[in-house]
Amino acid sequence: MSAIFSFQSLARCSQTKARAGVFFTPHGPVETPRFMPVGTLANVKTVTPAQLQDTGAQMILSNTYHLHLQPGEAIVAGGGGLHKFMGWNGPMLTDSGGFQVFSLSEMRKISEEGVKFRSPHDGQIINLTPERSIEIQNTLGADVIMAFDECPPYPATRQEVEAATNRTYRWLERCIMAHQRGDQALFGIVQGGVYLDLRSQAAVALAKLDLPGYAIGGVSVGEPPELMAQIVKATAPLLPPEKPRYLMGVGTYREMAIAIASGIDLFDCVIPTRWARHGTAMVQGDRWNLKNAKFREDFAPLDETCPCYACQNFSRAYISHLVRSQEILAYTLLSIHNITELIRFTQKIRESILSDRFATEFGHWLEADSEQRDNDNLLYRRD
Ligand SMILES: [Zn+2]
Repeated sequence: MSAIFSFQSLARCSQTKARAGVFFTPHGPVETPRFMPVGTLANVKTVTPAQLQDTGAQMILSNTYHLHLQPGEAIVAGGGGLHKFMGWNGPMLTDSGGFQVFSLSEMRKISEEGVKFRSPHDGQIINLTPERSIEIQNTLGADVIMAFDECPPYPATRQEVEAATNRTYRWLERCIMAHQRGDQALFGIVQGGVYLDLRSQAAVALAKLDLPGYAIGGVSVGEPPELMAQIVKATAPLLPPEKPRYLMGVGTYREMAIAIASGIDLFDCVIPTRWARHGTAMVQGDRWNLKNAKFREDFAPLDETCPCYACQNFSRAYISHLVRSQEILAYTLLSIHNITELIRFTQKIRESILSDRFATEFGHWLEADSEQRDNDNLLYRRD
């Protein structure tokens, strides 16, 4: 690993594969396990960077595909690069755009070269290749950049998934060749769909490339939660222990706890901000709809134990009023709370790993509960 990026493991759980560590980046350390908020278009929706910092956010995400279309990477670079342009001086990660272009099933054409698609903004044909994705990410300037991968849909045949997994590997080799900046860490992405042997082969092959970090992609695309847990359990331990491991697009309580037990360190998901915009608060493992009549005259904070700005200053009744009135402040307060809540969840898990209490304190999250997980809107995790 390049000297400016390193991963230090501080503690291992004695009963699971959970681990606590620190991932060092040029813009500061990331304590793991950690939830990372998503700032699709170089902002976490409705939240200022100062407010975001107060949630406990360390590393945040932005999306290559969206930023390429608007405002374009040249403008971000003209503004001093992604950190300066958006006013976030902490660690940042950009995805490769792979997930988004493969979601455009109507408008895209895949070849060995890359993916051609029509811009939903102006109809122009855009050719996104591994080289181009890395060039865009080099220009944007996040600390961590992601390989351009082919994310097969669910369901897909074994043949289709095998072809996509092999192509993802060949594209990763091209990404490595194209990558120009030593102050950015390129993470590889393990694909393989729900086929555990393909996942294992991909993980072993990627591990040999000695990248600064690894991600598991192509989960949370509609497969049953049990399958996701199996994929992570089979794949994560094959990735190098001295490198950070990132599970893409996952960010509900139970799925993070299960993945941490398999050795995952980093998570991202749009759920806390997207649910906030639907008037939903995440409170100690539950989801509350603030439009519910019972909150109209409830003057308690969302969560008395929560240190966030929303909980320290406002009542459920006030936030319920803002939600009913569709005031933008409602979405800001709920986003601040929901992001704080998920980050605190991963922080509490981290503390429990450091004192080897994870399996006892979080054991109830590690058991299957399909009803809870069906509620978690599995298809709508990413932008
Ligand atoms: Zn709160």
